[in-house]
Amino acid sequence: MTADDDVVRVGPDPHPITGDPHLSPVLPGSGWPTDPATARTPVAHGPGDVQHLAASADTLAELDARVSVCRACPRLVDWRETVAREGRRASFADQPYWGRPGPSFGDPTADTLIVGLAPAANGTNRTGRMFTGDASGDFLYAALHRTGYANQPTSVGAGDGLRLTGIRIVAAVRCAPPANAPTPTERATCATWLGRDLELLGDRLRVVMTLGAIGWNGVLAATTTLGWTVPKPRPKFGHGARAELLTPSGHPVRLVGCFHVSPHNTYTGRLTPPMLDDVLLSLRN
Ligand code: SF4
Repeated sequence: MTADDDVVRVGPDPHPITGDPHLSPVLPGSGWPTDPATARTPVAHGPGDVQHLAASADTLAELDARVSVCRACPRLVDWRETVAREGRRASFADQPYWGRPGPSFGDPTADTLIVGLAPAANGTNRTGRMFTGDASGDFLYAALHRTGYANQPTSVGAGDGLRLTGIRIVAAVRCAPPANAPTPTERATCATWLGRDLELLGDRLRVVMTLGAIGWNGVLAATTTLGWTVPKPRPKFGHGARAELLTPSGHPVRLVGCFHVSPHNTYTGRLTPPMLDDVLLSLRN
């Protein structure tokens, strides 16, 4: 589990908010706003490393740091770094790209967790923050602001002053996948990080809201592995679907489904702002 100092990087280019120069992919501990890792953070190079490093992370901050430098899925590592070096969208060509897994974002003391699918190539993979810098994030953070979870309606980039209260956001798969389609093996490998996240939250966790079926199924797989009690037959994903899960200590955790905030859903009206607001407001009940 050595440092990732063999990564090929390009740049530097100025960060769009701080103006500080950064290489792409971003060097851990080089001053990127909210980078949870340092040059000494251990790096997972395969599923066995993920198991070990997740199990030995004692805090959410330590877990986030280890997630943010993970290299366990070769196809996804190659994709995220190739996009960062040479596949940037023309409108962002003068910006550094994060090019690493997306760490969690939000209130570290929250009792509510949102689980998305995976970072977007020019969104989180560029900005280093969940759902930040793309149309999905614009839709989600506007709703989080309307419903009182966010202090501002926009999420432009790490360092823009956005803060969440009472909610934290993670992804079922933490690296941007080609065609937004992680393989079953990649999903299973990354589910280990999600499982440890749920374990570390412990009995503080009250609600998990998933954006889309992959997040829903990822939570059910991770909680089953952790020995939680999951209803049988296994509850199916749907917009507004609910299920009650029990941790091994008998603590109840509500699982809530919501259509994903992807342009495919929001541009077609399958998911509207009032629909998302209703689900978000219901999480407090
Ligand atoms: S998808 Fe998850 S397990 Fe795979 S490299 Fe990214 S962070 Fe690591």
